[in-house]
Amino acid sequence: MPPAHPFDDDKLKEECGIFGVIGVTDAANFVALGLHALQHRGQEAGGIVSHHPDHGFNNARRFGYVRDNFTSQKLMETLPGPLAIGHVRYSTAGSKGQTQIRDVQPFFGEFSMGGAAIAHNGNITNADALRRELIERGSIFQSSSDSECIIHLMARSLQRNIPERMEDALRRVEGAFSVVAMTRTKLIGVRDPLGVRPLVLGKLGDGWALSSETCALDIIGAEYVREIDPGEMVVITAEHGVESIRPFRPQKSRFCIFEHVYFSRPDSIIGDRSVYETRRQIGVELARETPIEADLVCPVPDSGTPAAIGYAHESGIPYGMGIIRNQYMGRTFIEPTEQIRNMGVRLKLNVNRALIKGKRVVLVDDSVVRGTTSRKIKEMILDAGAAEVHFRIASPPTAWPCFYGVDTPQREKLLAATMSEDEMREHLGVDSLKFISLDGLYRAVGEASGRDPKSPQYCDACFSGEYPVEPSDMLEKGFQMKAAE
Ligand code: SF4
Repeated sequence: MPPAHPFDDDKLKEECGIFGVIGVTDAANFVALGLHALQHRGQEAGGIVSHHPDHGFNNARRFGYVRDNFTSQKLMETLPGPLAIGHVRYSTAGSKGQTQIRDVQPFFGEFSMGGAAIAHNGNITNADALRRELIERGSIFQSSSDSECIIHLMARSLQRNIPERMEDALRRVEGAFSVVAMTRTKLIGVRDPLGVRPLVLGKLGDGWALSSETCALDIIGAEYVREIDPGEMVVITAEHGVESIRPFRPQKSRFCIFEHVYFSRPDSIIGDRSVYETRRQIGVELARETPIEADLVCPVPDSGTPAAIGYAHESGIPYGMGIIRNQYMGRTFIEPTEQIRNMGVRLKLNVNRALIKGKRVVLVDDSVVRGTTSRKIKEMILDAGAAEVHFRIASPPTAWPCFYGVDTPQREKLLAATMSEDEMREHLGVDSLKFISLDGLYRAVGEASGRDPKSPQYCDACFSGEYPVEPSDMLEKGFQMKAAE
């Protein structure tokens, strides 16, 4: 499977996108379109479950892109009905790199009061402990996905209806989760009490939609209504519309700040702010904090582009497309020969030599994870005749793994976990390397006074090492938290 991003092997990867629709004819077709718009959140596999009053529940789960599977009329005809949910995944806990089709969501459970399907974005941090307990009590797991715990917890609940069983189940679950689920007649959406992962509500004619991001509402012509609040459950029926329930003890929200930096699409809206505009503002803050004399500001495409525009605007240094992305980098050239494989980044990106030659270049990228790609890009820019290369990074150093539904390398593989900023600069071989500060990032996302160190407004654990939910399974496996200061 080709990566969606040219440096996918050197980026944090969001692991899932979820989407659901109720109250329209052939809801699965809308879900397929929504999942297509959320493909950047997971490219490995996708699945859709639908319900039709005469045909019951039906599902299709496939490896590969949504456009390669869920555009087939033959397949879509097997998913009839006015209610459907879907999921795209990169790879969730338990089976990285060796996913089986049974790990692909949505998951389905048959209960005495009828069936329910569930799709989950995030990560359950106590999944190992829950799984052990459930297996001891007789549950038989079908997959290696931690999300299946929710179905088994629902099966054991004594509540009389499915939304209440789901409330029961989710109260036992720790971590970050946005959930889209369905019964025969209801579309259900839930966000964890801290609201780490996103979920939004849209109106689609007489029907409704739930989505990880607003960009997927746009593609189906749905109107963005609002975000599902942290800790809120919405139960939506075609007849009665949206009912809001608060199953959890209220807590201060801790939305993932990296959604603003990288994961979400720039045409999405988060918290009434355009993601594009926030990223441009990150570039403005970055230019204020880390000025440099240079001739050209270039984005590392595509995710560095809005920040580079902001950096250029604030610094007054001309902006230019010094690196051009090959838009048609598809499957054709994926690993046919060792020689082509070794070309790596050059297959995906090329330097605009005429623009770069002789210039002092500021390269703006969204993050440095392992640093492997940054090194290659620096070499390409120098080969093209640049006089100097300065890296400016639109996020603070990524020094800690994420345990909330984002694939991160082990801590030792994160460049910032083992090196100081100066050591990283030397390692990358660039003239200067600077990251936006955590306060600067908070200002860019709209927190005028920066980060509140006593009670941070966002989850920023991959930068700060301060985890809002204790990653209990990982602690059991030996993960060392940051020592208290
Ligand atoms: S650890 Fe980082 S990537 Fe993970 S949820 Fe928190 S801010 Fe987002």
